[in-house]
Amino acid sequence: STTSPFLDPGPLTTPGALALIHLSRDNVLPVYLNEDSGTVDGYSEGPVINTRFGSFPHSTLIGQPWGSQIRASIVDTGSRGRKRKLGNVIDADATGNDTEAVASSTSNAKDVKTAPSGFIHVLPPTPEVWTLSLPHRTQVVYTPDYSYILHRIRARPGAQIIEAGSGSGSFTHAAARAVYNGYPNDCEDKRGKVWSFEFNHDRFLKMREEVQDHHLNGIVQVTHRDVYNDGFLVGDESPEAECIFLDVPAPWKALPHLSRRKPTPALLASGGLEPLTDASSEWKSPLRADRTTHICTFSPCIEQVTKTVEIMRRLGWMDIEMVEVAHRKINVLREKVGLNMPLERGTNQSPRNVAEAITRLKEIDSRFKEFSKYKQDNDVNMEDIDAEGDEEGQNGLSIEDSDVVDNQVPTNNTPTLKPWAAGRLIHRTEAEIKTHTSYLVFAILPQEWSEEQEKAALDKWPCGK
Ligand code: SAM
Repeated sequence: STTSPFLDPGPLTTPGALALIHLSRDNVLPVYLNEDSGTVDGYSEGPVINTRFGSFPHSTLIGQPWGSQIRASIVDTGSRGRKRKLGNVIDADATGNDTEAVASSTSNAKDVKTAPSGFIHVLPPTPEVWTLSLPHRTQVVYTPDYSYILHRIRARPGAQIIEAGSGSGSFTHAAARAVYNGYPNDCEDKRGKVWSFEFNHDRFLKMREEVQDHHLNGIVQVTHRDVYNDGFLVGDESPEAECIFLDVPAPWKALPHLSRRKPTPALLASGGLEPLTDASSEWKSPLRADRTTHICTFSPCIEQVTKTVEIMRRLGWMDIEMVEVAHRKINVLREKVGLNMPLERGTNQSPRNVAEAITRLKEIDSRFKEFSKYKQDNDVNMEDIDAEGDEEGQNGLSIEDSDVVDNQVPTNNTPTLKPWAAGRLIHRTEAEIKTHTSYLVFAILPQEWSEEQEKAALDKWPCGK
């Protein structure tokens, strides 16, 4: 059994590995590294990732420590007088759509560009970076939400999680890592596992294929199912779950199945729900009997929350609480110029007149020129920085940009004073703040104590009775 690259990618990139190519903060491209080179006119050429930062043959990405910065290569486009076609070129810019770019990676032959000035980073797959790069088949749960959810539902190594629906698998990958406890595939009964349910057939098939490709089988089990009607047993097997995450439009319709005992038709009718229609006469709970169950439901509208909470109360769920994760990105930066800037380094004095202000502006201008040259000489990707600034409607450098330079090893040529240290530190929130993703409803279903359980617990107790 191969360990999933999401759980242990190994030290180096290898042929066939899934790599997440980090082009810029908001642009990450999933790529299967492919060494198959084929020969063109006597030259050996492999697939190439073609970006606005230059061309990156896969061969330069293989055998590298994960996280490496890879510089663009000069790729021969036919210097011997005619244009050569190279197969398997990904043109991330041409499509304007990373997903398509990946899909076309083995079929779309284009001429490779020659513009080797930039670099990319080759990252191992992690749930967080996968969430940023995955092919969207549905709305997905993002990292700030799933980190909090997994913590609150007590997902931990060895836990059994029920998830519905699987959707694009964003939550599934994070959940798989949370429950992974290192047992190999043949220790089925001891493994932490995500029991994932999806009723859309295409998404189910895609999800199953992805689980296979990412070597997550055994840790993630995907079932094609309408959980409102058919519940959470797989064949006759109960997941024995302790943790539940429901990201479906009507979570309250799935809740009756997540009970310790079969809810009566009268109880369900009081909440406006139909009786359960299980074929088998002997009802089985999908929950682990000797543990408290922790649940989270994920709903964008408050009306869905109200209905979910009502049904939770009727079915005996407790400690019901609603939380919203309001995630804001705040860019911290220095103002480039301004009359209120200190006149001299190390002083807080502002210019006192126009002449002083002009001197000051000239000084700042020359320091920016010095800074630009420094960035160029040290191969800092200006294009990347500019693009990010533009995307966010900013003109200034964000804190991430100054990090880039701060991370460079100082050399004799490093400017003694960083030019941007001239400005006041300010922050701007994003122009378009996404404040609302969904409401999270948390609750617990306590363990039920039967007479037998009480007796068994006392028998185990060293000084029992
Ligand atoms: N949590 C997922 C992620 O992070 O990628 C996204 C889930 S998506 C918003 C909701 C999914 O629930 C859809 O794929 C939909 O087909 C599925 N779904 C809706 N009703 C369902 C039901 N009754 N049983 C199973 N799946 C259902």
